[in-house]
Amino acid sequence: EPRPPKPPLKILLCSPRGFCAGVVRAIDAVERALAKFGPPVYVRHEIVHNRYVVEALKAKGAIFVEELEEVPDTQAPVIFSAHGVAKSVSAAAEERSLLAIDATCPLVTKVHREAEIHWKRGRTVLLVGHAGHPEVVGTMGQLPPGAVVLVESVGAIAELDFADGANLAYVTQTTLSIDDSQEIVGALTRRFPQIVGPHKEDICYATTNRQAAVKQVAPHVDAVIVVGSPNSSNSQRLREVAERAGAPARLLQGRAEIDWNLFGSIATLGITAGASAPEVLVEEIMDAFAERYEISVETVSAADEDVSFPLPKELRAHA
Ligand code: SF4
Repeated sequence: EPRPPKPPLKILLCSPRGFCAGVVRAIDAVERALAKFGPPVYVRHEIVHNRYVVEALKAKGAIFVEELEEVPDTQAPVIFSAHGVAKSVSAAAEERSLLAIDATCPLVTKVHREAEIHWKRGRTVLLVGHAGHPEVVGTMGQLPPGAVVLVESVGAIAELDFADGANLAYVTQTTLSIDDSQEIVGALTRRFPQIVGPHKEDICYATTNRQAAVKQVAPHVDAVIVVGSPNSSNSQRLREVAERAGAPARLLQGRAEIDWNLFGSIATLGITAGASAPEVLVEEIMDAFAERYEISVETVSAADEDVSFPLPKELRAHA
């Protein structure tokens, strides 16, 4: 008996999606360190928030720890993740004469320096971000305890206890939702018109472009898949942006997580991937759909990207 024909499925593939320049650099740093120093190489925190990437590097000899205290006294390098670290972490590594290699994304470092400059100019620094995210912990840790005040929502602004005219500045996490952040910053500047902000957005180009692409695609599809890990801030934001733009959206780490109750009878599907999600995971998810559907793929592009960052200096070719 001939098999019934597969139903058609139109896939709108968001561009850009997946790896950003900071993630490429951080993963390269671990790989180059493994090649240069040999295993093991210690990595403080998931180098980027993706299970597949972390498992692949573990298999090559990277050892992941959450805190520097878990690293033994060793000649092996210790790499700090793309999210950045508090100054106390770099100081502790130096104290112990560990070979620290900092894979903090340069766009996160830029926010660190802004916060420091504000503080040196006598301003109290407000950080718009999500409590507990390692980037937030790292940015707050650029200044002494209490110098940075975290603002997580518009609601929290009412509780801020500063005098009118207080000397204030704000910085933001790099991976926020553009819309949420505009709302929070808008409320902040209404309450404190004197507040000083960044010259140029702290939300990075990769976050901005990935959100723009999914926002463009979401109104035209029955559902959206965001490839990424649940602890990836920018991936979670992509899912929210898709849902607000009108498409049910799911964050998936790989094809095994596809819920066919949701995706089994659709006609159009949007796919994007967080900045830490490798393209191979997008491909395996597309393959899973191709087994059930007759797929056609169209790319929807919101921006061209050609950003790259040099490796940490310890790992450059002639270092
Ligand atoms: Fe850097 Fe943005 Fe990528 Fe984070 S998402 S690593 S800030 S480029």
